[in-house]
Amino acid sequence: MLFKRAGHRYFCCVATQLHQGEKTLRGIPVSAGVCRGKILVLDKARHTIEQRPLAEVDLPEEINRLQRALVLTREQLQDVQRQLALSLGASHASIFDAHLLVLEDPALIDETVRVIQQEKVNAEYAFHRVTERYATALAKVADEYLRERTTDMRDVSTRVINNLQGRDEQVDLRHLAEPCIIIAHDLTPSKTAQMDRKQVLGFATDIGSRTSHTAIMARSLRIPAVVGLKNASAELKNGDYVLLDGFNGVIIVNPTDQTLFEYGQLIRKQVTLEEKLREALNQPAITLDNHHVLISANIEQAADVETVKTSGADGVGLFRTEYLFINRDAPPGEDEQYQAYHTVAEALKPSPVVIRTLDLGGDKLLSSLALPTEMNPFLGWRAIRFCLEHEEIFRAQLRAILRASVAGNVKIMYPMISGLDELKQANAFLAQYKTELRQEGVAFDEQLEIGAMIEIPAAALIADALAKQVQFFSLGTNDLIQYTLAVDRMNEKIAHLYEPTHPAIVRLIKLTVDAARTHKIWVSLCGEIAGDPALVPLLIGLGVDELSAAPPLLAQIKYLIRRLKLSDARELATFALGCESATEILARSLAIAQRAAPSLFDTKT
Ligand code: PEP
Ligand code: MG
Repeated sequence: MLFKRAGHRYFCCVATQLHQGEKTLRGIPVSAGVCRGKILVLDKARHTIEQRPLAEVDLPEEINRLQRALVLTREQLQDVQRQLALSLGASHASIFDAHLLVLEDPALIDETVRVIQQEKVNAEYAFHRVTERYATALAKVADEYLRERTTDMRDVSTRVINNLQGRDEQVDLRHLAEPCIIIAHDLTPSKTAQMDRKQVLGFATDIGSRTSHTAIMARSLRIPAVVGLKNASAELKNGDYVLLDGFNGVIIVNPTDQTLFEYGQLIRKQVTLEEKLREALNQPAITLDNHHVLISANIEQAADVETVKTSGADGVGLFRTEYLFINRDAPPGEDEQYQAYHTVAEALKPSPVVIRTLDLGGDKLLSSLALPTEMNPFLGWRAIRFCLEHEEIFRAQLRAILRASVAGNVKIMYPMISGLDELKQANAFLAQYKTELRQEGVAFDEQLEIGAMIEIPAAALIADALAKQVQFFSLGTNDLIQYTLAVDRMNEKIAHLYEPTHPAIVRLIKLTVDAARTHKIWVSLCGEIAGDPALVPLLIGLGVDELSAAPPLLAQIKYLIRRLKLSDARELATFALGCESATEILARSLAIAQRAAPSLFDTKT
């Protein structure tokens, strides 16, 4: 803010007065941009349900309050059911039958009333305690059907408690009545994917980090976003007016005229910068000393091709296909996938399109596949590990990609490769499907390139062995950093330990690039750091051939590379490989980038 940059004490004092009445919450910036408007707090936050002691005389009214909340919840559920029946059909609507049954369960309601009367406590506390006891017991039963009712029980419980606390019930993010900023405890990638882009001005969450898939989605959708705000969803109320600053990771509640004025200036600076960046869009990313770096786009769905075309991308470096699989009842079949891949390949030809095979797991869970809950999902049955055991899913996807390959310049990439056997097994499946297609007389690109993601430290360490089986590598630094440093990429509490310039990461990137050079294959980098201007000098200095990031970030990367010298970047890489401090490496890379393109870093008010 204004007073932070001005060292003068008198000015500080004036500035503080100018900002009186507003409140600032600080988090982690994950998607650039500024927006302002009314907020909508999603009810999924785990608000504490307090136990309030009540006087004997207040107990009848407390029981009435419970009854009114139960009736209201029933009406709301029936309403949702009616709307679903209209839009999706009766079979989808019937999923709420189980919820309604929970609401009408006499044993549950009687027990809640008993707790209110005997312990003289408030209704939300009593209802929560009773439903949690039921849910915990249900979660343990052997019968799968009954076990699944645990979620219904908790969902109904949340709805009733929200009504008791006067909070909004669950919101359908696809159909919002007016523009708003969403505030939530957490947002799953599938919820984020559903957001009505026209009405959601921005969003902010209590938890999360820069590389959670929700944050990645926000950047692709160009929705300003802040995460890791700790307690925002409990502190803020529906209808509060806020300014969300996705550059600096702050939310300002009730911004003063002075703050709005300062942000007006920041927005004007950004508009001027965007005009400058537009010039770089259609120019190649060639350094001042004539080194060409490919700049590609990361996409999540076939519809993103339009954005890719206007982003200046040299192609698609990562098509995350898991978004074709989420928010639906059954996985897409071969033909449906073929259509999606064909659309992208044809729309962008002759530019390359790297299609990554299904990388479910971690924070990307599919409602259509009933997968067991895991203690450590990021270390679990993820990605290629899952596909190699679900041949029907792998087969449909690989055949769909192969068939689509004739429409353009398609490449296949396997996620989460941890060893040579896994890679050979995946390639064996691919060879088998190629044979099938040949026998069926179905055409595909016989020269189609195969790549492996290097996102597990083990893969980087044996990159020389993996390089013999593929035509390219793609460094998935989002995961590579979390696995190397043992820092959960989703956890805001340890976000400060998630250091892309940690010497261990620098060395693993170098090992990967060296193995690729020896075996004459090319190396891309498609983790989020590819779109961070502060790190670009280091990455190109280490010898990465391609940087792939969300389409809105590409213009600035091109703009920057056109102002850099490869010789400086190489010198920086040499320094980084001998340096023991992540902070020093970052500072040097940032200094080079800032010197080359200062306006890219002018995001403070
Ligand atoms: C990565 O891990 O860097 C990557 C690009 O894959 P994802 O973010 O989808 O896990
Ligand atoms: Mg990954």
